Amino acid sequence: MKQKKFILQENELPTQWYNIQADMPNKPLPPLNPATHEPVGVDDLAHIFPRECCVQELDTEHAWIDIPEEVQEKYRYYRSTPLVRAYALEEALDTPAHIYFKNESVNPLGSHKINSALPQCYYAKQEGTTNVTTETGAGQWGAALSYAAKVYGLEAAVYQVKVTMQQKPYRSSIMRTFGAAVTGSPSMSTRAGKNILTEDPTHPGSLGTAISEAVELATTTPNCKYTLGSVLNHVALHQSIIGLEAEKQMEMAGEYPDMVIACFGGGSNFGGIAFPFMRHNLKDGKTTEFIAAEPESCPKLTRGKFEYDFGDEAGYTPLLPMYTLGHNFKPANIHAGGLRYHGAGVIVSQLLKDNMMHGVDIPQLESFEAGTLFARTEGIIPAPESCHAIAATIREAIKCKETGEKKVILFNLSGHGLIDMPSYDLYINGDLRNYAISDKEIRDNLKEIEKYQK
Ligand SMILES: *Cc1c(COP(=O)(O)O)cnc(C)c1O
Repeated sequence: MKQKKFILQENELPTQWYNIQADMPNKPLPPLNPATHEPVGVDDLAHIFPRECCVQELDTEHAWIDIPEEVQEKYRYYRSTPLVRAYALEEALDTPAHIYFKNESVNPLGSHKINSALPQCYYAKQEGTTNVTTETGAGQWGAALSYAAKVYGLEAAVYQVKVTMQQKPYRSSIMRTFGAAVTGSPSMSTRAGKNILTEDPTHPGSLGTAISEAVELATTTPNCKYTLGSVLNHVALHQSIIGLEAEKQMEMAGEYPDMVIACFGGGSNFGGIAFPFMRHNLKDGKTTEFIAAEPESCPKLTRGKFEYDFGDEAGYTPLLPMYTLGHNFKPANIHAGGLRYHGAGVIVSQLLKDNMMHGVDIPQLESFEAGTLFARTEGIIPAPESCHAIAATIREAIKCKETGEKKVILFNLSGHGLIDMPSYDLYINGDLRNYAISDKEIRDNLKEIEKYQK
């Protein structure tokens, strides 16, 4: 019998997260205070984020960090997630490659984001916070945070990117069902939002604008902390649960991946699945290839520049050393809302610089073509973001067909697309298009950030 999926029992779940910072040959450069250009410490970050998250953010020493009991308990509501061999997709592609995917879409919220929402809200509650705020693009993070806030008894206020609020209306309904207050960004409720709208009254919003508004709310409201669903090191740490489970599950399947692939917004699901395997490249001489699939319209990994830049549109965050297109970059309104972010996480940026991984660009139409084939073979409709990982996987599987190589490919299915059906309708009706951007556009945008360099 060909085994289709591999599942860990509750007593086999990891009890620690993996912190790749401890094993990196070149540590990430520190975040900087934009005014003084001095490195930022835990105390500087802790007026925005829960303190324990700040400690984790800057921890370059401890490779293993205990998952609090109370978080493990909530993880057991939906973990482990299955590792699945994609036999039907392999057959449709007629490839000798073995394709596996880690199915992070099986929790009812529909994406990997809950893996970090739970610990962030847990730590916030532990230190006496009553309110949490955040931004959300496609709404996946907002939905996860709204639920996690409720679980630990916190109030949540979510700024949702205006254009995706219109594209994916049910995500706001989900957040409200969990009890969160949801506002479209840019909004008139913050100084940052007012400034953005004064300059451009029809601004469609971006993760950058929504982050500015949420950070402003957190820093001007007592007992309110800001939480972020991607980009930061502590988020990738929490997401390592994905790769740690996958490592055990690949062992059950009797294979080890030659390639690990994930879609890339700020890097949390990529880091989550990749870093536990990358540890064996760093320490045990494994040679797995790591591929991050980004949209062609927001190509920070493949065409961005490694610079200190702000994490948000208004420039409220510390300066972060990252591959960026410039914090004022306005990405096209592609349907993979979670991938419309101008920069790459600090850890990933350093690893990319050190050639430990690489990025690929996927045009929007190719992503939906791949997602549709996946749906028709494996029976799961993927999130538009996850379609990018599938497209990159298909490219590699086709290469294997040409060369006859039997590579083992593992990709992360970061979420399902059941709330993204208007996007699939547009694709099926032929109403979607690609958004390639020119080198000049990228260069012009990057000029903006030169003034923040040391
Ligand atoms: C948010 C999101 C992403 C992108 O974020 P990363 O931090 O890069 O993982 C990808 N897929 C889904 C389903 C998401 O919700």
